[in-house]
Amino acid sequence: MAVRKIVEFPAEILEVQCKPVTQFDKKQAKILNDMYDTMIEFDGVGLAAPQIGLDMQAAIVDIDDENGTIEMMNPEILEVSGEQTGPEGCLSFPNLFGEVSRPYYVKIKAQDRKGKFFTFEAEDFLARAILHEIDHLHGVLFTSKVTRYLDKEELEGLEVE
Ligand SMILES: [Zn+2]
Repeated sequence: MAVRKIVEFPAEILEVQCKPVTQFDKKQAKILNDMYDTMIEFDGVGLAAPQIGLDMQAAIVDIDDENGTIEMMNPEILEVSGEQTGPEGCLSFPNLFGEVSRPYYVKIKAQDRKGKFFTFEAEDFLARAILHEIDHLHGVLFTSKVTRYLDKEELEGLEVE
């Protein structure tokens, strides 16, 4: 286990356009393993590299479903459709939750930890989590998309990205 410190807002690293990952080596694998440990430790459903202070386009998502952990290096959005509005949180904003509208469906292209390209399709909450993490890699924070902040009573059982 190597749990890293989560960078909380405000911090410059959270608002930069991250650099593409070009090395798919042991060092990168270690970073991804640490990101996983950190996400699990803090009960998140996703984590992006800038959230542990790294300027690189790497993110992971795991909503505890049959897809397991999705590792995305240099992800690109190929297609979106539909719309969903729901509560969202972020490990970089402790105790802050708000309603965010996002596409219902997303198709992405990314590279895995070995550099191999893959495409992936997701809907509903998984699509939301993926889009939230990809935003992080471009310095976009969910707070810029919140239409309404939620108070404590509305928060029961929410998951954070
Ligand atoms: Zn986040």
